[in-house]
Amino acid sequence: MTELREDKDFVKAITPKSRDYSQWYVDVVTKAELMDYAPVKGCMVIRPYGYAIWESIQQALDPRFKETGHQNAYFPLFIPESFLRREAEHFEGFTPQVAWVTRGGGEDLAEPLAVRPTSEAIIGSMYSKWIQSYRDLPVLINQWCNVVRWEKATRPFLRTSEFLWQEGHTCHRTEAEAEEETLTILEIYRDFAENVLAIPVIAGLKSDSEKFAGALRTYSIEALMSDGRALQAGTCHNLGQHFAKVFDITFLDQDGQLKHVWQSSWGVSTRLIGALVMVHGDDRGLVLPPRVAPVQVVVVPIPSDRDGELVTTAVAAARDALTTDVPGLRLKVDDRPEYTPGWKFNDWEMRGVPLRLEIGPRDVKAGQVVAVRRDTGEKSTLSAEPAALAQGVRALLDDIQRGLYERAKVFREVNTRSAASVEEMADVMEGPRGFVLAPWCGSPECEEHIKEATGATIRCLPLAPAAAGGGRDGGSGLSGEDRSGQGGRSGETGRCVRCGQVPGRPAYFARAY
Ligand SMILES: [Zn+2]
Repeated sequence: MTELREDKDFVKAITPKSRDYSQWYVDVVTKAELMDYAPVKGCMVIRPYGYAIWESIQQALDPRFKETGHQNAYFPLFIPESFLRREAEHFEGFTPQVAWVTRGGGEDLAEPLAVRPTSEAIIGSMYSKWIQSYRDLPVLINQWCNVVRWEKATRPFLRTSEFLWQEGHTCHRTEAEAEEETLTILEIYRDFAENVLAIPVIAGLKSDSEKFAGALRTYSIEALMSDGRALQAGTCHNLGQHFAKVFDITFLDQDGQLKHVWQSSWGVSTRLIGALVMVHGDDRGLVLPPRVAPVQVVVVPIPSDRDGELVTTAVAAARDALTTDVPGLRLKVDDRPEYTPGWKFNDWEMRGVPLRLEIGPRDVKAGQVVAVRRDTGEKSTLSAEPAALAQGVRALLDDIQRGLYERAKVFREVNTRSAASVEEMADVMEGPRGFVLAPWCGSPECEEHIKEATGATIRCLPLAPAAAGGGRDGGSGLSGEDRSGQGGRSGETGRCVRCGQVPGRPAYFARAY
């Protein structure tokens, strides 16, 4: 007889968050088997469980892109150096992080090839061939791929030398259309982050110092991690005509004039997996929102010497009921005989499975199933009757999804403060951190001074009324950039927090990953 793995074998101890946040994070991502370190420093292997989360992200985002008219394509990994050099600001911005290929097929290459850090240059060169007329516009293309940015200090998912992402690249006839596209995607990102990842975000405009190299304007969604640091979770760039001019992307407009296109680019990456870990995770490991969890429900049979068959039959019935009545449910029955139920409970909790169902001989006799929520640990019993069980599970999953979002939103609200001076802001950053919402006059000097004095950067200038987390309404706030007069939180409007110049525009400051 095989020896049972006992609860005490559960040695995958996770460092408590409160003791060492960084170590807690590393423990969770490695012990939940999301990733492992690669032989090349700064690179990582995304293991099947981590990759399944990425697939959930793709499956949620890809249809949203397609519904808004975008198509997927694939462009090459290698970019000739001369292409990257054409846009000076872009080149300067990315050069320090570019990996170069100088040899191929045993010979030195005539021209070094950049391993793409982003694809504006290669895609722009193709668009100049493909676009001739206003009839060819808009071009709305996305690609799912990897990029390489050579990093000195890395952290799993958050900053690695190679990562996976999607990058959208679009061309439009007018500036207004390019801006509309940029904001449409920003709204898709916001909606996706909040409704799928259960991560509340601030959608806003980046300051010039934080914008994408070569862009006219950069917008981002910013999330607050549970250690009080911010994480940029997605960006959208209105590229203006910069790349169109250097790559000569022109079209003959209806009025017979030859014009440059207006462009946008936008992306989210595997760093979202890091955000999920840090926003929702706890001392027992991962906590995954149902909509993105690779396994949404795990069923653990409680073995019984006398009534084993009874349990097996009940488990099979529960599985049938759930897979039939909850379409698309990602359910796993953990009937591995070599592990004890207690070991399984710990293991699946660490992996963040939203809902566990336990079925033992007593439950079978009582016509019930025990349900345990990962987010609250709350235990309840559901009727084993098929329709009632399916309904009960559906309701619990919805409630967990909503509960995680609400909890994260409350955390962000509690950790969004105002500050009347740079000193006050520094105190917040040295203490609880979080967001400081304070007015900024727009000068790079004030921005730089605040960064030096507090370690906080401007995460974004919110587009919607600046009541942090206050009932986003599906994005109608995205149409107007400047609503600095609105919102009720004290300290967000008025004089610049640094120089006292009037008027300042509300800005979210934070220390960031
Ligand atoms: Zn100022």
